[in-house]
Amino acid sequence: MNRRALCIHGHFYQPSREDPFTGLIPNECGAEPYANWNEKINANCYLPNARLGNFEKISFDLGPTLTGWMQANAVETLELIKSSEQTHRSQWQADNAIAQPFHHTILPLASRQDKVTQVRWGIADFMHTFGIMPQGMWLPETAVDLETLSVLAENNIQFTILAPWQSDEEVDVSQPYRVDLENGKSISVLFYHSGLSTCISFDAGSTINADSFIQTCLKDAFSDNEKDQLLLLASDGELYGHHQPFRDKFLNYLLNGALHQAEIEYTTPGRWLRDHPPVKSIHIRERTSWSCDEGVQRWRGECGCTPHSSWKKPLRHFMDAVAEVVDEQYLRGTQFCLLDPWQARDDYIQVLLGDQSYSEWEADHTGRKISQQESQKLHQLMAAQVERQRMYTSCGWFFEDFDRIEPRNNIRYAAHALMLTEKACGLDLIPQVRPLLRMIYSTRSSLTAENEFNYTVRRLTETC
Ligand SMILES: [Zn+2]
Repeated sequence: MNRRALCIHGHFYQPSREDPFTGLIPNECGAEPYANWNEKINANCYLPNARLGNFEKISFDLGPTLTGWMQANAVETLELIKSSEQTHRSQWQADNAIAQPFHHTILPLASRQDKVTQVRWGIADFMHTFGIMPQGMWLPETAVDLETLSVLAENNIQFTILAPWQSDEEVDVSQPYRVDLENGKSISVLFYHSGLSTCISFDAGSTINADSFIQTCLKDAFSDNEKDQLLLLASDGELYGHHQPFRDKFLNYLLNGALHQAEIEYTTPGRWLRDHPPVKSIHIRERTSWSCDEGVQRWRGECGCTPHSSWKKPLRHFMDAVAEVVDEQYLRGTQFCLLDPWQARDDYIQVLLGDQSYSEWEADHTGRKISQQESQKLHQLMAAQVERQRMYTSCGWFFEDFDRIEPRNNIRYAAHALMLTEKACGLDLIPQVRPLLRMIYSTRSSLTAENEFNYTVRRLTETC
């Protein structure tokens, strides 16, 4: 008899919210009675789902910037999630957690070098949290191009999850596919069921009761053919309890009773792919995503989803210009000591995670003993590289208006990257990029990127 299986994938993620001046999250409007959104969402989604054991039976990715916050601020939640992953792994000999690129960067818009760094930092964070190499990786906004998939495969990632319209040809979403890549490599792709995923995300009425969800939505989505079928439902994890109250309980009953009664098994991609390796290959549609009808336009200009956002294109230009300036100085400034500056950057994640001390990292990557002054300069250049990665956080381009915390934070991180580089190299770099800020402003408020940038520079000058 053919198998009918369901996999729920939750993308659990929050961007960096820390103020670069203090390293702390400022109090955030709208999160009351909590101090900030992370705390609020932990209270109504992450922790209740963890306490109910839901992380044991779903597939999930936990964004590194969220994991880092949990380590310091939501220890119970993180420990419960880790123990759920372990229980799943010992029961099924496959993981149900998958990794995520570190700063939620739109990888098709990033350079190859940045893709590599984001993917390696994401893998390192996963290994730090779960103690194992990830099998799969969730791509931010499922944004994909062939180069991104190649970087995943080169780093031993076996699968990812995409939206069905990201395939170049029609697919049967109940079956896994393979994408053939350069150098004889390939990667497996599971496509989520878009109708059902939309339904659970946006039709609150459909998820009031798990039994009726199965009868009225899920059952009809399986076809009558003789093949084993997996339906994968992907959404933001925050759906379960935060975007929609009580859905943590819906999820719990779905996985612990309702599915079983309907003779549908629950599974996860790692388990399913072990028994069902892809037999067909497909080509992907380059530079597409799950949350914009115009590919990855949402993160670089105006699109149908955010039509009045003329600030996005110049913001992308500005960030690319900052990256160029910072990288040029990074290469020039580390020439004297680093054996391989890009490998050194990729490995710097061990310092960020606290798995290696700065001096150990330095000894590993410099070809000779360097002076204290040189060491200080190197340290500043590495800190600039971290900020330069963080300034590309996709949330900065997601919404229509510029006057929001996410784009403001990206501007602040960019300013910080420039200031650290200036300090390290003793050069005046800001004038090179400042004119690019003029086209970036809110049409709803008086906020301009230039003001935000100048304010940041002023504050950093006072505090550093
Ligand atoms: Zn769009």
